[in-house]
This record gives sequence, C-alpha cells and structure tokens, in this order.
Amino acid sequence: MIRSIAERTRLANGVEMPWLGLGVYRAEEGPEVEEAVRVALELGYRAIDTASMYRNESGVGRALRASGLPREEVFLTTKVWNSEQGYDSTLRAFEASLKRLGVDYVDLYLIHWPVPGRYKETWRALERLYRERRARAIGVSNFQIHHLEDLLAGAEVAPMVNQVECHPRLQQRELLDFCRAHAIQLEAWAPLMRGRLSDEPTLRRIAAARGKTPAQVMLRWNLQRGVVVIPKSVRRERIEENAGIFDFELSEQEMEALASLERGERIGPDPDHVDF
Ligand code: NDP
Repeated sequence: MIRSIAERTRLANGVEMPWLGLGVYRAEEGPEVEEAVRVALELGYRAIDTASMYRNESGVGRALRASGLPREEVFLTTKVWNSEQGYDSTLRAFEASLKRLGVDYVDLYLIHWPVPGRYKETWRALERLYRERRARAIGVSNFQIHHLEDLLAGAEVAPMVNQVECHPRLQQRELLDFCRAHAIQLEAWAPLMRGRLSDEPTLRRIAAARGKTPAQVMLRWNLQRGVVVIPKSVRRERIEENAGIFDFELSEQEMEALASLERGERIGPDPDHVDF
C-alpha cells in the first residue's frame, strides 16, 4: 500500500523511482515551467518528466538547481525525440539534453516513440549510456507488446520502464500484465486524460464518497495497479491536489467500478502509426 509521496518503486536494476512525478509537457520554457517545478519540489514531488521535444529542459534544470535539493534526491527523466533516433544521433541528442538540463547524468532516459526501423539502433545507444552510467536507468515510451518483444529479442539490457498513455478510458491491461511479467515498470502519461474525465459519473461518485476529486481518484487507481503516474499541471492548487493521493485507499469494489470505464479510447497518437 503506497502511503506517502516519498515512496518509490524499485526498478529491475535496483534503482528507485518515485510513484508520483510532475509531467511538464506543454509547460512553457521560462517562468512557467520553472515555477511549476519549484512548487512541485516544495510540495514533496521528487520526480520530473521532461523530453527534448518539450523544449523546456533548460527551465527544468534551472528550477532543480534553484531548489537547493541534492541532485540525487530528484529523479529526472528525459527522452530522445523521433527525429533524433539512430545510434550516433541519439548519443548527440543525449549530450544536448544533459547540457540543457545542466546535469551530468539523468535517472531515466527513454525512447519517446517506437519509430519503425530506428528504435533498435537507438536502443543500442541507450545501452551504451547506461553502461557508462550517464543514465541510471533506460526505458521506452509508447511501446506496444510487439515492440517490446522485438526489442527484447536483441537487447543486451532490457528496458526498465515503459511510459504509455494510461487512464480509465485506456487501461492497458494486457500491456501491464506483459510488463509485470518482464519486470518492466509501467508509467502512465496523461493519467488525468487531460482533464476530460472530470464529469464522468462513476469517478464523481467515488470521489464524492471519499471526499476526493475525480483527478485524485484516477491517480490513486493507477497507483493501486502498480503504475507510476506523472500528472501535469502548472497551477499550484492542482499540483497540490494531484499529490493528495496518499491518504486514502480505493476498495476492491471501487477498483472494479473503475475497471468498467475501459473504452480503448486514446487521446494521443497510435504507437503503431508513428510517422511524426
Ligand atoms: P495529464 O493527464 O497529466 O493532464 C494535464 C492537463 O490537465 C493539463 O491541461 C492541466 O492543466 C490539467 N490538469 C492538471 N491537474 C488537474 C486537475 N487536478 N484537475 C483538472 N485538470 C487538471 O496530461 P499530459 O499529457 O500532460 O500527461 C502528463 C505528462 O506525461 C506530460 O506532462 C508529459 O510529461 C508526459 N507525456 C508523455 C508522452 C509520451 O509520449 N511519452 C505524451 C504525453 C505526455 P493545467 O496545467 O492548466 O493545470
């Protein structure tokens, strides 16, 4: 039972990753992202999820340094973008990310999307960065089971994390089972479905019964399934709300009621059609 914001999941290689992190997609470079990261760290968040594609790594780095927290206390994730994939270009993209972030290692480096024909070469670069201890853990994002099988077949180091779209309308049950069986930690992006479920009746009913908000119920549901969550907000009150998920436990009946909300509905791109 996850009871505090400080709790972490242990990845396959022993590295510990917080169950809750702040997502910063669409948090604007400059004061907006810096303030969001500052507030999150002040409220006890210890993980930040960025990407070279978000164009806010510099701001994330500035906010980390300004926090005064020791580097090893904050779990920092970034990702290699699709146009950067390939062996040499990934190594270069990684150096550029580190430079913008102003750090000498990241905690987790992810392949952002499974670009057909490119992701295996990209993975070899991640394996090298892992061996050189520039990335404490490496993983993938938006990989379906067949992508993972394909990658695992030739990998020397297995991915430790798979970050995918995951919320009550797209629960990823089969993928979650596959990842569990292969010691890959599943991580949910858009865990709030970008705010689209706040009026959903089942969520509202459970939230009202618990004295919580629909957003908090959605996040707690994923935690109880063993899925890491990285809700994004740039507003103090929501960053705080999204961290208020450690003082209640959903019952089995409530978990079942939430399971019935599955619709196979994506808000993001289909990982089987990566042409961007
Ligand atoms: P989320 O499901 O986290 O929703 C974020 C949106 O919901 C924002 O518009 C935010 O607005 C709003 N919001 C935040 N908290 C609340 C709340 N408590 N109640 C109501 N609305 C709220 O979507 P994201 O797409 O941002 O996903 C989270 C993170 O996952 C990203 O920031 C990014 O780090 C990562 N991600 C990864 C992807 C990948 O391909 N690997 C793809 C997409 C995201 P406001 O900021 O104004 O509060």
